[in-house]
Amino acid sequence: MRVYISGVHSGPNPSPGLGLARSLRAAYPDMHLVAVDYSIRSSGLHDPHFDDIWLQCPWDQLNLELYSKQIQEVLDSGALWLSGLDLEILWLAHVLGEHPNLLIPPASALSMTAKPEIPAHTWLPMKIPAHISVTSPEWDLHSFCRRYGWRVFLKGPNYEAREVDSWETFTSSRSCLSETWSTDNLFLQAHITGHEESIAFAAYRGELLDCVYMSKRSMTGEGKTWAAQIAQLPTNLLAPLQMVVRELSWTGGAEVEFIRDSDNILWLIDWNTRFPAWIHGATIAGHNLPAVLVQAATGDTVTKASLPISPYFTRIVIEIPCNSYFPLPPLHEMWPDPLNVNSKHPSGMPVLGKRLKPLIRQHHQRKPEIPALLVDDIQSLDLAHAKTPQRLYLEGTIKDRFERFSKIASQLTDSQLKVHIAYSIKTDPATRFLRAAFNCGMLAEAISQPEVERVVSSQFSLHQVVLNGPAKWWPSPPHKPDDFKIVFADSIEELASYVDLSLETIGIRLRLPSATSRFGVPLDTFPSFRRLITTISKFPSECPIGLHFHLASNQIGVNRWWQLYDSFLGWAIAIQRTTGKLVESLDVGGGWFPDDADTALLPQFTKLVNKARDHLPNLREFILEPGKALVQSTMVLAIRVVEVRCLSSSKREIVTDGAIADLPMSPLFPHRILTCDEQGLWNPVSRGEDRILGRLCMENDILASNVHLPSAMKPGDLLLVCDAGAYDRSMSYVFGQG
Ligand SMILES: *Cc1c(COP(=O)(O)O)cnc(C)c1O
Repeated sequence: MRVYISGVHSGPNPSPGLGLARSLRAAYPDMHLVAVDYSIRSSGLHDPHFDDIWLQCPWDQLNLELYSKQIQEVLDSGALWLSGLDLEILWLAHVLGEHPNLLIPPASALSMTAKPEIPAHTWLPMKIPAHISVTSPEWDLHSFCRRYGWRVFLKGPNYEAREVDSWETFTSSRSCLSETWSTDNLFLQAHITGHEESIAFAAYRGELLDCVYMSKRSMTGEGKTWAAQIAQLPTNLLAPLQMVVRELSWTGGAEVEFIRDSDNILWLIDWNTRFPAWIHGATIAGHNLPAVLVQAATGDTVTKASLPISPYFTRIVIEIPCNSYFPLPPLHEMWPDPLNVNSKHPSGMPVLGKRLKPLIRQHHQRKPEIPALLVDDIQSLDLAHAKTPQRLYLEGTIKDRFERFSKIASQLTDSQLKVHIAYSIKTDPATRFLRAAFNCGMLAEAISQPEVERVVSSQFSLHQVVLNGPAKWWPSPPHKPDDFKIVFADSIEELASYVDLSLETIGIRLRLPSATSRFGVPLDTFPSFRRLITTISKFPSECPIGLHFHLASNQIGVNRWWQLYDSFLGWAIAIQRTTGKLVESLDVGGGWFPDDADTALLPQFTKLVNKARDHLPNLREFILEPGKALVQSTMVLAIRVVEVRCLSSSKREIVTDGAIADLPMSPLFPHRILTCDEQGLWNPVSRGEDRILGRLCMENDILASNVHLPSAMKPGDLLLVCDAGAYDRSMSYVFGQG
């Protein structure tokens, strides 16, 4: 009996070939095993378990038509083919279809197990984690990452997953993965906290032959199994697995990978269409899945039964001599291989992926939606005379946003409790916004004395100013702490300095133990909590307490923000109980992205305030300090094309008179960009291969990558960069202008 086994690399991220060979050898000592691979760097080629080596050219040089004929001959001669390479399986399923000796699933089953939807999951008691295709508008991708608190993975359709914790890591990982796998067809998936487990099974023509349940005990840095426990499949999973195998007419091996969360929900993350690389671990535990598959396909009974040796297995690293016919070439330093593709993927899957592009499902590109109010605002701008780069106020949007926040505050205010919005001055101290805040009855939130001076000269009284931050008296204090509405001490030292003043409220910013922040009074140890309580007790006994926390939801995620709010209320109760003083003021900071404020904060604001009332019956005042939620979307930056550069028929770069100096946030979040069509209508640019470059002679002055620009774009044309208010204005700087 001859068996061809493809994909035999054995490194930190191995293919299953070597494990298949060892398991088959254990059951059929006389079997003739042929190792197949596509690079001499595939280390398993040198392993003595193989009787023969069939080394192919790399996939980019391989004549696929001829090669498929050769494989057909191999199969027709009576040999079996066990593939350990997902993309080879995809290719073989399409070119050879079903052959009794080709032990792979049918093409229809492959599409039912394709990521990220994995349609076959509906037969199993498992869920699919939230995900979004990377071909969606960048605006939506950023929103997805915020929703899941930047605990997301970027994944390819077949291989590779990278952790994404910021927009910058997302954009660099995306260009790396799309270059390696020659595809835009990537997706983002929410991280699930839990234990990684999987099911490996063998099936022949829709019949489940045997299966095992694996839970990881040790992993490599890449998350690959290094040690694990093998057990019987829980009975509630067996019947669904039999059913899905039957429905998909599965032939061959498979591994179904999932995460078990703390509520015992199983989240399916991958369905590999081949045996896992740890398959010999199952054999050690008494389940020789490759052997039962060969037995079902050939009718040849296993000559040596697999006896369970241990339910646990681990990997070790050993050195073996190389086959003298296949000496190894030197490392790649001499050749440009910046992504390390050849040594990382010796079986050449990135190259095959490129050749199989038509077989892998592609998603359509969508454009971001532009709110109607923004379109109206833009239509009313006088752009013909714009002295670019020029920032322009969107009056309708300013009115809408300031009124929306102040209306909610006044609706929630009653005789018991006053709800305030305090505009964060540092976000953008422009007079236009300070006036809008004052006219809407908002307070102002300052972090320095120059900010205080600025709002006082814009009609605000000191009693309408909330003072916050680590250096609020800098550079010199012209006012006293008791002149302000409320002052939140950022440290124990600062709090202690107010003990002898006649403050109306003892304001304290808390550093919540479950989040990382450099600000506020720490509470994470008993001594630090005791120090806080002792310091508070030095104030007059009738003096009430005000508490503040500020953790940006656009960083930590909206759901996590709500959890931290609950924890904040818990600490407020603890402080009230231990000091005997009443918590009368709460202030929950800012850090909301405008869209999240609209969809997750404002609609829930009543609930937020009522929760505080329920927990703290003496509460008199509730403050929210929005900055960018109010002003980020209220400005556009008009820029003009200086030069159009054609790199290829599908790829262009435009140099503009804008720069990162005018848009310092451009690497940190995607901005919606509009171009004007012949009818004078402004349309969002969709994704593509073009780039918008800045005017500065600086490598990092790139305003947008991966955009598709109108073909008629020429020097002098205008572009509008939306979302250019807030820190894009307040942190903009003059550079390269003599
Ligand atoms: C900066 C700041 C804000 C506003 O933050 P945004 O991200 O602009 O919403 C609110 N409160 C405090 C204490 C701040 O320092």
